Amino acid sequence: MPDKASCDILVVGAGPAGGAAALAAAQRGANVWLAERKPVVGTPVRCAEYIPALLLGRLDIGTSFVVQRTETMKTVLPGEPVREIRAPGFVINRDVFDQSLIRAAQNAGCRVMPATRVCRRVDDQTVLLKGSSGRDMEIRAAVIIGADGPHSTVGRWVGAVNRRLLPGIQATLPLTEPMDWTEVHFTPEIYAGYGWLFPKGNVANVGIGLKKTPGRACNLRRLLGGFIDRLRNEGKVSGDPARYTAGWIPAESVRPAVYGNVALAGDAAGQTHPITGAGIANAVICGDMAGKWAARAAASGDLSLLKQYDVQWHDFLETAHDRAFRRRIDMEAGWRDFPEIVKSCWVAFRDYYA
Ligand SMILES: Cc1cc2nc3c(=O)[nH]c(=O)nc-3n(C[C@H](O)[C@H](O)[C@H](O)COP(=O)(O)OP(=O)(O)OC[C@H]3O[C@@H](n4cnc5c(N)ncnc54)[C@H](O)[C@@H]3O)c2cc1C
Repeated sequence: MPDKASCDILVVGAGPAGGAAALAAAQRGANVWLAERKPVVGTPVRCAEYIPALLLGRLDIGTSFVVQRTETMKTVLPGEPVREIRAPGFVINRDVFDQSLIRAAQNAGCRVMPATRVCRRVDDQTVLLKGSSGRDMEIRAAVIIGADGPHSTVGRWVGAVNRRLLPGIQATLPLTEPMDWTEVHFTPEIYAGYGWLFPKGNVANVGIGLKKTPGRACNLRRLLGGFIDRLRNEGKVSGDPARYTAGWIPAESVRPAVYGNVALAGDAAGQTHPITGAGIANAVICGDMAGKWAARAAASGDLSLLKQYDVQWHDFLETAHDRAFRRRIDMEAGWRDFPEIVKSCWVAFRDYYA
């Protein structure tokens, strides 16, 4: 027989969305439990680790995760002048960032269960978890927040699955000189995506994210190798790539995130920007909204309040997200018109906003 317990809100996943949701709900007095399948929150890191500067102002979790500041973003297109725009941000230690959020949630009263995988929904309010000891546990929760990433298990329970996922692969290399800007490189081989060079002190996160052509083989490691060689030839990085990592990036249109007593947040809800692939800030902001409404719904017993989360995050993201999604469809369809298509579909160019 599995152990049994109950709480107001069960949060699944200790990434930025889950951490922010748990923190917001616990601060409002809810009895919050959080299950994370990884033994150590935030590791291994699967991220280029850039956050917009504005996000720091919204969080009260210190700055121990900040490695360096960046001021601008340079967009590089072959044979074109480099386009530089103001884009203040920080490159962070993502594991420390995730851990700082979770610590804040714990300090607010959230019970965190690492090395605990959410397996199955027994009924609307009951979820089966498996801990590291192999022991099963059934938790009954008024509200379930699925913040369990791009391949969300909770999303699958309610039929809300990410269908447009882009692969990303990255390595870390020594930088030849310090940089206070990020670089984004477009080339025809990186189909409907881009390569990035994000400085992190004396190293850089170098990666690519792209659309895979259905039915056509795509060797991501080889493409990344070609991009690294190019940066090496340009004298920007040196040495051997280390710490390879890879993951999936949702590129979804806006859709509901609330299904009965279940709310999805972050990558699980497809809240990642469909053109840039940036998802940390949206995960934190939308996770926070989900946590607040979940706490209100649980305290009042009126689960219909959860729908206000859908209203709020749509108000916040819909216009920008819809535009980005349309640009993604255009970019994928018009890639043969490279580089013109990039100039109308990438955020650094005025036509993107037209
Ligand atoms: C290569 C790459 C580079 C990126 N670079 C950037 C960047 O520089 N800036 C940026 O803003 N965004 C970046 N992103 C996107 C960003 O990482 C995501 O948008 C962000 O992590 C979303 O946060 P989340 O909390 O929704 O999901 P995640 O961070 O994916 O967290 C989900 C958590 O749920 C846990 N989990 C999953 N299933 C279960 C289960 N069944 N039971 C218990 N726990 C479970 C996972 O272990 C994980 O810890 C990048 C993505 C990739 C792949």
